[in-house]
Amino acid sequence: MKEIPKDLENSEEQIEEIIGTVGATEETKKETSFLDLTLRPEKFDEYIGQNSIKENLRILLAAAKGRNNPPEHILFYGPPGLGKTTLAHLIAKETGVQMKVTSGPAIEKVGDLASILTNLTPGDLLFIDEIHRLNKAIEEVLYPAMETGQLDIVIGKGPSARTIQLELAPFTLVAATTRIALISAPLRSRFSGGIFRLEFYTNEEIEQIVRRSAKLLNIETSDDAISEIAKRSRYTPRTANYLLKRCRDYAQIHKRPLDKKTVDEALKLIGIDPLGLTHSDIVILKTIIEKFKGGPVGLGTLAASLSEEEATIEEFNEPYLLQLGFIERTARGRMATDAAYKHIDSPAKDRGTLL
Ligand code: ADP
Repeated sequence: MKEIPKDLENSEEQIEEIIGTVGATEETKKETSFLDLTLRPEKFDEYIGQNSIKENLRILLAAAKGRNNPPEHILFYGPPGLGKTTLAHLIAKETGVQMKVTSGPAIEKVGDLASILTNLTPGDLLFIDEIHRLNKAIEEVLYPAMETGQLDIVIGKGPSARTIQLELAPFTLVAATTRIALISAPLRSRFSGGIFRLEFYTNEEIEQIVRRSAKLLNIETSDDAISEIAKRSRYTPRTANYLLKRCRDYAQIHKRPLDKKTVDEALKLIGIDPLGLTHSDIVILKTIIEKFKGGPVGLGTLAASLSEEEATIEEFNEPYLLQLGFIERTARGRMATDAAYKHIDSPAKDRGTLL
């Protein structure tokens, strides 16, 4: 058997982790964040696609600047890797302010949030990633901070407890989430600058992103290689960048040009199918079709039968499978469509007899 070069020896799980960055280990996170940092657009003009969001932000930022106020609070949502964090960075750059970065799971106590907020300087942009993972008690401290710029903290316990109120420097909160449904109504209503949903990119936009990244990484590649990488990138910039790099490594190790043939071989080796589906996507489709007769099957049941986290399926696999029209979400659960039967080569007629 041909030996797989060390550099390409990623387990299927690692690939899923990098592409999905849901539940990623420290090592895979490092690789993703290295790529994210090197390839992150530095100006709005370099940020491809999401035109309606960019237009809205331009107006919001210009209006705030005209009034000499920090922009109002903004929430971005959508699947991982679509460019939410990048937008936060661009807003900070555009407005020339300092950006402080934290995340829902990193803020464990009310005191953590209090120290972040009291350390902000006037005009700062505070970015909270994965804001759906903030706990309720902390969320409640955030409301007045977002609304009136005040921080109410309770000091002490029992009868001697007292509340002190601190004035905060004016700031803009930019938050991101992959799970908008988990954001409570009161928290949502505080994002007065707007709540923006990031859409999957078009194939052409992903091609532009791959072309730009290849240039930045000094990778020589052909047009058909770029379009093949784009086609398998789940309409997602982070995935596109990751696949480009894997193909570059493969071409380098095999001393070959990065053409379509190299892309086909490199992506086959890491288990990405012609539509960009990973091993776990295929297993999900097969489970719905073969074990649950095409569905409907509830998310909990599906996750349990796959020994997978519900969140991973919901945040990473499902959005792309829905986008491809391979599954439908009904009130009674997930169902496989005819297109899914066709893709995994299961005769569609089975569907009729099994239902
Ligand atoms: P999210 O926060 O939604 O998970 P990121 O903002 O971290 O996604 O984006 C991941 C990477 O994808 C970025 O570092 C950047 O290299 C690339 N990227 C995202 N959106 C775009 C875009 N619109 N144009 C070009 N590259 C992008």
